[in-house]
Amino acid sequence: MTGIAANLQTVRGRIARAVQAVERPVQAVSLLAVSKTFTAAAVREAAAAGQRAFGESYLQEALPKIEALADLDLEWHFIGPLQANKTRAVAGAFQWVHSLDRLRIAQRLSEQRDVHLPPLQVCLQVNVSGEQSKSGVTPEELPALAHAVAALPRLQLRGLMTIPEASDDTALVRSRFARLRELRDDLRSQLGPQLDTLSMGMSGDLELAVAEGATLLRIGTAIFGERPPA
Ligand SMILES: *Cc1c(COP(=O)(O)O)cnc(C)c1O
Repeated sequence: MTGIAANLQTVRGRIARAVQAVERPVQAVSLLAVSKTFTAAAVREAAAAGQRAFGESYLQEALPKIEALADLDLEWHFIGPLQANKTRAVAGAFQWVHSLDRLRIAQRLSEQRDVHLPPLQVCLQVNVSGEQSKSGVTPEELPALAHAVAALPRLQLRGLMTIPEASDDTALVRSRFARLRELRDDLRSQLGPQLDTLSMGMSGDLELAVAEGATLLRIGTAIFGERPPA
């Protein structure tokens, strides 16, 4: 077994134990392998080990990778900061966007999404930790943005995403995940059951996220190894 295949098996084991601990069904949680900074060959290795959904943060790096792997039936998720001049390429190459936090960007994605493709699946990124530097809509601004995005024809609003502040305080991190779930539950009661996604949990905190209802874990390091410093 390759390193990546073995790591994937370890991560799947962690997820299985985490869902069991809180008596959630294992199918309720899916795994997004975050392949940013890693090569197409590394993605191919993960795909050979059964992984189908991959997350990328940098468009220039992602596009050639997606192209090089077009022979595989993979699902690509854009999880990085999204500027207006990148929306056309993202709308064309990805099936999901997790990092939407502005209406103008959402409108562009909807206008630019090819009518022959299924609607782009989107999550709104929420800044639940209140850090000034963080991207993401504030909890206060979230309902208006969610209602506006839900009305766009070529997007399907699927839920919320967050990246909590880096902290060893597990109670704090867990409270951030709980807050995202409450925000999603409120929106779901207004906008409908298709808001089924909570994109939260990374290599270091996936167990906390699963305990608070995560449905989509974004895992990089635990699958592909350490990334070079940015
Ligand atoms: C890089 C990244 C991840 C993966 O983080 P790991 O700690 O390596 O698992 C998850 N989400 C986002 C938005 C990222 O940019």
